[in-house]
Order: sequence, then C-alpha cells, then structure tokens
Amino acid sequence: MEIKEAKSAPPNFLFVPVSHSPASISIDLDNQWAYLKTQGLPGWESFPSYLDMVLPRILETLRRSGLRATFFVVGKDAALEKNHTALRSIAEAWHEIANHSFLHEPWLHLYSQEELQADFHQSEAAIFHATGTQPRGFRGPGFSTSTAVRAMLIERGYIYDASLFPTVIGVFARQYFFMTSKLPAEEKKRRSKLYGSLADALSPLTPYQIQPGLLEIPVTTMPVFRTPVHLSYLLFLGQFSMLLAHAYWSMFILLCRVTGVGPSLLLHPTDFLDGQDVPEMSFFPAMKTPAEKKIALVRHTLSTLREHWLPGTMLDHAAKSGTNIERPLRSTTALKNSI
Ligand SMILES: [Zn+2]
Repeated sequence: MEIKEAKSAPPNFLFVPVSHSPASISIDLDNQWAYLKTQGLPGWESFPSYLDMVLPRILETLRRSGLRATFFVVGKDAALEKNHTALRSIAEAWHEIANHSFLHEPWLHLYSQEELQADFHQSEAAIFHATGTQPRGFRGPGFSTSTAVRAMLIERGYIYDASLFPTVIGVFARQYFFMTSKLPAEEKKRRSKLYGSLADALSPLTPYQIQPGLLEIPVTTMPVFRTPVHLSYLLFLGQFSMLLAHAYWSMFILLCRVTGVGPSLLLHPTDFLDGQDVPEMSFFPAMKTPAEKKIALVRHTLSTLREHWLPGTMLDHAAKSGTNIERPLRSTTALKNSI
C-alpha cells in the first residue's frame, strides 16, 4: 500500500515558538494474537502476527515525518523466529525498543513475585535475542501495573515506566469491553484493571519520579478534561466525523501549549490497518476506516507535534526531563545465556 503525503500543517496563528518541553511518541506493538486473547476469541494460540505487514507502514510514516519513536515490544513476539526480520527493522531504523511484558496479560498486577520475575526475564532475553537491545523502559499491558512491578523495574535497572493512563474514560472503556466481550466471569475479573483506575486519572500529565530511581512518563491525555488523545481514540471519533477528530486534536494541542504539557503520544498497529488487511480484527473500532485515511490522520498529528515541540523517543523524553539515562544496565551475559 502506498502512503500518501500528508497535507501541510495548518498555519501557526498564535506565532508561539517551538516549545522545549520534552515530548515523545510511542507505539504499543500489540499483535493480532494479543487482541484476540484479551477479547477471549479463539485462534490466538498459534500467535498470528501482522508485524510483517504493519511495521513497514509505521516505519515509513515515521521516516517521512522525520521522527524517532519508542516501540513497546511484546516478549512472546520477539521469541518467535517468524517476527525477527520485522522486529530487527525497528532497531535498524534507530528507534528505541522497550518492553511490553512477555505475554501481554492485562492482569500483570495479579502476578506472584515468581511469575513477575519469570515474565521480565523471558521478555528481556527474547527482545535482546531478536533485536540486540536491552530495554530501558516498560509499559504494562493494558496499563496494568503495581508496586511490585515498579520495584521489579528499579531492581532490573529500568530508567522509566510508562504504564499510567491518566483518564476518566478508562473505567467506561473497561465497562464497554465487558459488555461486548463473551468472556466468563472469572476471566473478566482478571481484567478488572484493564485501562487503569480512576485514581490514575488524577495523576500528573508530565513525567515525575513515581518511586526513587524510576521516572513515570504518563500517556498524555487532554489537559484539564482528562479524556484520551491517543490515535485509536481519534480514529474512534473519526468514525463519526473526521472533522470532529481534527477539532479534538487541535484542542489538545492548544491546551498542551497553554498548560505547558509536552505530549507523549501513543500509537497502535491498528492505527495503520483496516478490516481488509486483518479480517479477524473487524470487531475492533474503526477497522472499517481505510488504512490510507488512518495513516493520513497519523501523519497530520505527527506533523503538528513537530511544529510545536521536538518530539523523540521516550528515553529522549526521560533525558530531557532531567533523568540520568547513562545508568549501568544489567550484564547482558545473563540474557545471552538464557536463550
Ligand atoms: Zn499493549
């Protein structure tokens, strides 16, 4: 599929110079099987993957926008040989690779200490084997996190966590998910913290030390109103009206500038795919919107970000927030030996 050039960004009527507040772009590389599994649909057990199809589109979009980003990779995908070429292409394009857990289970906060230890060990080893990268950042699957997860991140030398989604909509999104899902009650209980808690909605929008030695970089939501602003949400609005999606995005940019928030924008593979690409994913919102139209919206948001900030990877975001990112990593010998 050919990616069309984005229309030029609208003029900067307020004549405000580029802000030096740190800003970043991240992609949660949730794969087809992870969506099927979370939804309780059959077929995930063979770990179907669309990474070969979607990664060239994401990388080309970033290249045309002249931006680097952070990819949160799921360890299980990195452990499968069939995904290695696609995953290596991320590292070859100089983007950051971070950890998104091994099995992408949104009940990570319910794991025992032993299960957590095993999950981190497996995901780090698989990501290192596939890409040659030791992750410095982590995002919990479905924003699942806990004090034990954060303690594990500190112990393993992570620089930042990105598992907070400060929105009031998370609770409603979870209720909608439960209404539309055919999962048994026990499985729904395990997903009881999917999309975060109401307490998360009150947490700061800019990076802060969540525990000594660990920086939290929240996914930016609408300043003041705390509604979501990731691309999948914009595309959800775009199903009703693309004008509405554009107006909502413009409001976000304006409020970020007024309140001095440097955005950390979240993307997903589904922002680059449609129902024809992956018919099994047709249950997901906005899959009827053609991929070309989706990518045009992604490119618009990226060009607006570039107009007002100097967005980079999450690690750049951490460094510009005053965090020492040169902290020594754990020895790679253990990771090499565990393959
Ligand atoms: Zn995810």
